[in-house]
Amino acid sequence: MPLHLWTSAKYAIPLPDGHRFPMPKYALLRERVLAEGLATPERLHDPGRAAVDDLLLVHTREYVRYVTDGTLPADAQRRIGLPWSPAFVERAYRVVAGTCAATEAALDAGVAMNLAGGTHHAFADHGEGFCTFNDVAVAIRRLQRDGRIRRAAVVDLDVHQGNGTHAIFAGDASVYTFSMHGARNFPFHKVPGTLDVELEDGTDDDAYLARLAEHLPRVLHEASPDLVVYLAGADPHERDRLGRLRLTFDGLMRRDAMVLEACREVGIPVAVTIAGGYGRDVHDTVTVHTNTVRVATAFA
Ligand SMILES: [Zn+2]
Repeated sequence: MPLHLWTSAKYAIPLPDGHRFPMPKYALLRERVLAEGLATPERLHDPGRAAVDDLLLVHTREYVRYVTDGTLPADAQRRIGLPWSPAFVERAYRVVAGTCAATEAALDAGVAMNLAGGTHHAFADHGEGFCTFNDVAVAIRRLQRDGRIRRAAVVDLDVHQGNGTHAIFAGDASVYTFSMHGARNFPFHKVPGTLDVELEDGTDDDAYLARLAEHLPRVLHEASPDLVVYLAGADPHERDRLGRLRLTFDGLMRRDAMVLEACREVGIPVAVTIAGGYGRDVHDTVTVHTNTVRVATAFA
């Protein structure tokens, strides 16, 4: 099966000069994926907008309304880290829809990917760290509601801990949350998931992949999921501004392959989201994400 990908021009929004969020990465990633022949335009889909009812499976009615109307208190908007605008709202809704569509497609095709998403710092009632709505949580809850899955596992390999995702699924045995992240990195108040693996600053390819190989089979065994949602963050890369780890392009591709291979071995579909990436050069971040697409095409 060819790999199907979700992306949208509306994933990116204008930001003030000097803003540290790498908004150009979405368009650059789309261009690279096409230029390198990893997908044809027919396999790139615009997801449209998520339904409010789907958002409400995870988020409070008040929070969804405040985000949508632009009436979040200033400190809550600041905590998200992106300025409010109609485009900000459109982006937030579309990113969720992209992950919803990718999870649905993964159930049929084995692997599918949103060229955005993994907004794991979003909680039920607030956002932080550039995350507004929790796309992964909404996608999982939606498939559970529709009876398409019973159990899910989140494999979160962004360098930052998935605190929002962990809080949303706390106490819910149907969703296993696994996060491998920098011990000394944001968020400084971590919310325990089902399994957290903390990494020292400067962790390199071999050490990282050894830790992953040690834990991944156990995660899949204990979670026994009908679907894995994989957050393939680019921020463990050695030239990331925020990551503090030392993974190479090759190490990150081996990471992606290890996750997809482990899932294929036990027949579990995987939906991939790109999550974070803050390379000093945005093209490095785009290379990591493009390589994730490259690896995913081999498993589709
Ligand atoms: Zn991150």
